[in-house]
Amino acid sequence: MEEVLAEVAAAVEPHRGAGKIADYIPALARIDPRHFAIAVADREGRVHGAGDCDLPFSIQSISKVFTLALALERVGSGLWDRVGREPSGSAFNSIVQLEHEQGKPRNPLINPGAMVVTDQLIGEGGADAAIARLLDFLRAQAGDPGIEVDAEVAESESRTGARNRSLAWFMKSFGILGNDVETVLSAYFRHCALAMSCRQLARAGLFLAFDGRDPVSGREVMPWHRARRINSVMMLCGHYDNSGEFAFRVGLPGKSGVGGGILAIAPGHGSVAVWSPGLNEAGTSAVGALALEALVDRTGWSVFV
Ligand code: GLN
Repeated sequence: MEEVLAEVAAAVEPHRGAGKIADYIPALARIDPRHFAIAVADREGRVHGAGDCDLPFSIQSISKVFTLALALERVGSGLWDRVGREPSGSAFNSIVQLEHEQGKPRNPLINPGAMVVTDQLIGEGGADAAIARLLDFLRAQAGDPGIEVDAEVAESESRTGARNRSLAWFMKSFGILGNDVETVLSAYFRHCALAMSCRQLARAGLFLAFDGRDPVSGREVMPWHRARRINSVMMLCGHYDNSGEFAFRVGLPGKSGVGGGILAIAPGHGSVAVWSPGLNEAGTSAVGALALEALVDRTGWSVFV
């Protein structure tokens, strides 16, 4: 695997720095676009890496996979009364569809859908307790107590979050959100601002590649049917209006974030995290997607075999 990853890194080298950094979040605009990292966690829990795979980056929307996992644990399938599971075919922060569909977001991986999920995660302890539970979960899965929220990124996103605030208020008007808008957004901005390295992220997502079980401890993180469903939502909705293209090129469930990270799940094989900050038009890491294509080319991993 180390050799494969070195080959993947060499294959994307000529493209390093391609794509456009997400500068609508000022704290992200300063990142060097030439960063590249890849890590693969395998069945034995070993994490192989190349490039800047120990450097934490802003995982942004990749957090939506983990909040979905925790919200399904907390409220069960009743979650689907408030959020759909169809691809949206529009941008992650689009508002038009919401009006047509009476405030119920298409899926949990676009911004409004993730806000509904976050709302459902918030209980008695408010937003702080929800974030603390998420951190506990990620630290436990990654086996690394060092995972933190980057407060500067969260603050930067909140300060410039007019569009997300509009989406949340719009849903509030339809009665879809139970908590106060600012409470939901305070948790939403913080989970998007989680800083993780590719190594931590690949390890944290490993249970999704093994039917909800941690392959090392054998512990059930979630029932197998839930893990499969999360993978199916990632496959169809993980990259917004670019999800079809990603499925076509990579053939694995994945989730991208505007920090330039992508988490991809190879069922039965392992979990892969890539990071390169430059994005394509839909907000998926341009070089990250190329790297995943190069990886599946060499490993033969696909959900379609
Ligand atoms: N925090 C970002 C936002 O809400 C997440 C978007 C993304 O990663 N696609 O705009």
